[in-house]
Amino acid sequence: MHAISDLAHSHGALCMIDSVSGLAGAELRFDEWKLDYVLTGSQKSFALPSGLAFAVASEEMVELAKKAENRGVYFDIVEMDKYAQQNQTPATPAFSLMYALEAQLEWIAREGIEKRWARHLEMLTATSAWLEDSASRLGITWENIVAAGNRSPTVSTVRLPESIPGRAFVQKVKTRGIQVATGYGKLGDTTFRIGHMGDHTVETLRNCFAACEQAVRD
Ligand SMILES: *Cc1c(COP(=O)(O)O)cnc(C)c1O
Repeated sequence: MHAISDLAHSHGALCMIDSVSGLAGAELRFDEWKLDYVLTGSQKSFALPSGLAFAVASEEMVELAKKAENRGVYFDIVEMDKYAQQNQTPATPAFSLMYALEAQLEWIAREGIEKRWARHLEMLTATSAWLEDSASRLGITWENIVAAGNRSPTVSTVRLPESIPGRAFVQKVKTRGIQVATGYGKLGDTTFRIGHMGDHTVETLRNCFAACEQAVRD
């Protein structure tokens, strides 16, 4: 990550990260990696209801934003920063979700962020191993569309064999009480996604693996 932000900075650019699915599951070191902006949402690795977005901006980014003309009202980081300094928000936030966040942050602190990162990596490893084992058992080919080494610790996108359409597969898995997602956009019918994030563990993931295997056999 340091290499990417160094490259951005050497060209006079900022390094801004969409970590919507990553933050609180995948390792992220804002200061050490010299990032300028990281954005996330409550509904992914925080395992909270949707409705909150969190972001952090470097001092350089806030300073640059101050110089931007017509930067608008919505998501004005200068305004947000001003209020954040006083532990406030520019408008009334969704308090019920903030209480949920407070409780979840206590759980995250209790687990320890590094252990949480490690747990997510374990879930990725278990998912990759299961895909390989189950493929030979089921007599099919399916694999993460991303090469080993570049995979997300929080979500796996799995390419399905042509004989298994993605949307129908997701429906079949759902009848077993497990929600996997169809692929994103163009990948809708050729892949499906397993969100191994948040409060899941390798043990709870096993239920998902079993449901997916059953859906292939159906
Ligand atoms: C889920 C996700 C999004 C979309 O988030 P919304 O809150 O649904 O807009 C964007 N980027 C990444 C990396 C995501 O995982």
